[in-house]
Amino acid sequence: MVTGGAGYVGSVIGRYLLDTGHEVTVLDDLSTGHADAVPSGARFVQADIRAAGATLASGIDAVVHCAAKSLVAESVAKPELYWDNNVGGSLALLEAMRAHDVRRIVFSSTAATYGEPTSVPIVEADPPAPTNPYGASKLAVDHILTSYAAAHLFAAVSLRYFNVAGALLPGEPGAGTSGQTLGERHTVETHLIPIALQVAAGQRDSLQVYGTDYPTPDGTCIRDYIHVLDLADAHARALDWTAGQAGRHLICNLGSGAGSSVREVLTTSREVTGRDLKVLETGHRPGDPAVLIASNERAGTELGWTPSRDLTAMVRDAWRFQQSIGELAGPASR
Ligand code: UDP
Repeated sequence: MVTGGAGYVGSVIGRYLLDTGHEVTVLDDLSTGHADAVPSGARFVQADIRAAGATLASGIDAVVHCAAKSLVAESVAKPELYWDNNVGGSLALLEAMRAHDVRRIVFSSTAATYGEPTSVPIVEADPPAPTNPYGASKLAVDHILTSYAAAHLFAAVSLRYFNVAGALLPGEPGAGTSGQTLGERHTVETHLIPIALQVAAGQRDSLQVYGTDYPTPDGTCIRDYIHVLDLADAHARALDWTAGQAGRHLICNLGSGAGSSVREVLTTSREVTGRDLKVLETGHRPGDPAVLIASNERAGTELGWTPSRDLTAMVRDAWRFQQSIGELAGPASR
């Protein structure tokens, strides 16, 4: 069962699992997901994660838990939504899993659990210090999973995503044979790559670069970008890992181990699209650390995972996706 399987990351994971021989049930309330993103061939249940019991009773053996609220600014303005949905909802899901003796789970955690890093690359043993309720809510679930593994013999993996980008496009290696096109389609878009591509597509006039005076080589923030198909591959491996690991909770970063600055992302976006991007250099976005880079050694050792797609592939696939939905998306605003 993939919760949030109508969202960006969840739909690609569901598609990938189907294409690698799993049976998939998607549970999604469609509060932010899209019905047409549910992977074809998956069983679809439109329901809240608090109402997963009946679905869990129908032969589910493991859960990939992606359903969550995930907007940092919203979490600062409305923390109650994040504690209620991300923590309360996850706890209800885990209790339903326990009641139905489904004890394998792969959880969408985040680099936001670390907050401002003390050093990079960030390793999983670094102290978590989230700087917003979104990151704190994800960290709380990581802690809950540790205790459920110990007390209730769950086998759990928390995958701490760094910056996910790219799309699943028919014909690309690893995209399977479904012909489905899946990518990032948020009503409120805050991420750099989709915003840059909306500018390239003429759906936005310009984009803001949040700060050019960071202590980095070109003065802009550095992030660790990872292709959504590499991310999906990590989930498939994590699911395999949970078989036979009752009582263990594994936490793994998912990143490339290298960083790209905002300016580098914009250069790649110009190269891929062949279009100029109007850029406004503005002040810092509150809460943005200068550099976030993952150590991905543990994912390599424990899951045998290494990412294989670079920033150009991410921007190229995101651009093709953007073009495929361009006429549906209409003008974007922020
Ligand atoms: N960013 C930017 N302009 C935008 C959106 C993002 O300059 O319109 C910067 C942001 O400050 C950060 C990087 O791009 O340094 C990646 O931001 P994003 O929101 O994509 O991911 P985050 O790292 O916040 O999860």
